[in-house]
Amino acid sequence: EEKKSLNFLEQIVEEDLASGKHGGRVLTRFPPEPNGYLHIGHAKSICLNFGLAAKYGGQTNLRFDDTNPEKEETEYVESIKADVKWLGFNWTNDQELYASDYFETLYQFAVELIKKGLAYVDDQPADMIAAQKGNPNFAGEDSPYRYRPIAENVDLFARMRAGEFPDGAKVLRAKIDMAHPNMHMRDPLMYRIKHAHHHRTGDAWCIYPMYDFAHGQSDSYEEITHSICTLEFDVHRPLYDWFIEKLNIFPSQQYEFARLNLTNTVMSKRRLLQLVQEGLVSGWDDPRMPTISGLRRRGFTPASVRNFCEKIGIGKRENLIDVSVLDFCVREDLNKTATRVMAVLDPLKVVITNYPEGKTEELSIENNPEDTESGSRLVPFSREIYIERDDFMEEPMKKFFRLGPGLMVRLKGAYIIKCDDFVKDEFGNITELHCSYIENSRSGEDTSGVSVKGVIHWVSVAHAHKAEVRLYDRLLILEDASQVGDDFKKFLNPDSLTVLSEVFIEPSLKEAKIGTNYQFMRKGYFCLDTDSTPENLVFNRTVGLKDSFKK
Ligand code: ATP
Ligand code: MG
Ligand code: MG
Repeated sequence: EEKKSLNFLEQIVEEDLASGKHGGRVLTRFPPEPNGYLHIGHAKSICLNFGLAAKYGGQTNLRFDDTNPEKEETEYVESIKADVKWLGFNWTNDQELYASDYFETLYQFAVELIKKGLAYVDDQPADMIAAQKGNPNFAGEDSPYRYRPIAENVDLFARMRAGEFPDGAKVLRAKIDMAHPNMHMRDPLMYRIKHAHHHRTGDAWCIYPMYDFAHGQSDSYEEITHSICTLEFDVHRPLYDWFIEKLNIFPSQQYEFARLNLTNTVMSKRRLLQLVQEGLVSGWDDPRMPTISGLRRRGFTPASVRNFCEKIGIGKRENLIDVSVLDFCVREDLNKTATRVMAVLDPLKVVITNYPEGKTEELSIENNPEDTESGSRLVPFSREIYIERDDFMEEPMKKFFRLGPGLMVRLKGAYIIKCDDFVKDEFGNITELHCSYIENSRSGEDTSGVSVKGVIHWVSVAHAHKAEVRLYDRLLILEDASQVGDDFKKFLNPDSLTVLSEVFIEPSLKEAKIGTNYQFMRKGYFCLDTDSTPENLVFNRTVGLKDSFKK
């Protein structure tokens, strides 16, 4: 195998290890905000953070960035843990951390900055503060509260914490530079008042730290060596460094990489939440969603998602990855592992007129030609079978190697049959084929000397089980949703879900388990859906056998 060159983060880690920068230690973190379910973009960050640490003998913290009480919920914490585990990454109890556990520490950090004359309480409303920041070409305007005495700031901040003031009445700001060319350095907010219940700290706090003050200080507190985030945070880095320098605490370092963008979908939790709340999908785990739980329910394997993250690589430039790459990765994995079975999605009945009535044969069919260990199973065959409607043409075109008047085809694992006749109803729809079989053409012991080009799948009518099958297509008809912002809902694909309610499956599938993948011969990869019951089996198509998506 060709040796892959290092990505830029691996290069940085190797340089740091060589120079002994953090005492030869690598500690990364994956820092989700528990305000929604994880998506495939998060998977990229998880694989990166856990993968990088593992490669260099380091560790990774799972830190919940739960500093924003209104949007965060325990349900999301639980789903995030399940998804990270499912992807194949583990952490110890010591490595499961919550930024909300640092509220007291962060508060003390803020007091320290106030005492150093580096933070002040501002009584102005948020819109006024924003207006005074000006624009990058002009210096901003000082707040009238900027030069408040330190003692007054200490007192007011304590009273903010004590709940004396309503929401929005005051904020704590860093005192940096109102003329700084980087707008994030123009006296940014550190704390706001929010009388809101927090999913972990309850009502203990009514002031909450802003992202910029919480994140870097949490990294530093945990002594994270490499704090990896997406590119849009590069403008926050000077502030990240400023707080650490002024507090003189552990010098974590922030690095930025390009986020994952995928075609024909949306990825931000805010937008995914809209789809859920407005009932445009069945939930966070709707198999059309780009969430990890949606992919899992759809039949993606952890390996396929990890391989995808590996394949797209880590870079510094934003790009848009075609969702067909994700399909490719799951197809590649399932081809190796999925049991081949037969299911007829659009059934047409065939009567094999010269086959004895009431007779059943158990035919042995291999489970997976790609896996010699996978063995075989018995599939019942009898006089009446279902085949796919489109495997018959009344007036076959050239090179149609399936059934038509007088044409022959092989039934997978069974016999060669010839179409002698067909039956139409009063509307001209074909309702039944009459075929004859060649008795000595049984697969594996064929002495007929007849050769046919086509092989089709089938299910015995007497032994078939009925199931529901759900086929999926792209969530959006628009390739690049970043162009349309909140208008993305105008581009929902009306054909993203097709439900087939009369599918006939071979009997072995009655024992299908959630989490097992199957190849329905010639139809794609499928798995049992969580809506399935023993009485009403439901299968999802994970992906077709070929890339058939039309742009
Ligand atoms: P969203 O906008 O979807 O809510 P977020 O960045 O606000 O994303 P967080 O929970 O804060 O969500 O993300 C946790 C980690 O996952 C962060 O380090 C973030 O940079 C990373 N991440 C989020 N989205 C992507 C993406 N599309 N590609 C790569 N990494 C991502
Ligand atoms: Mg975030
Ligand atoms: Mg977010």
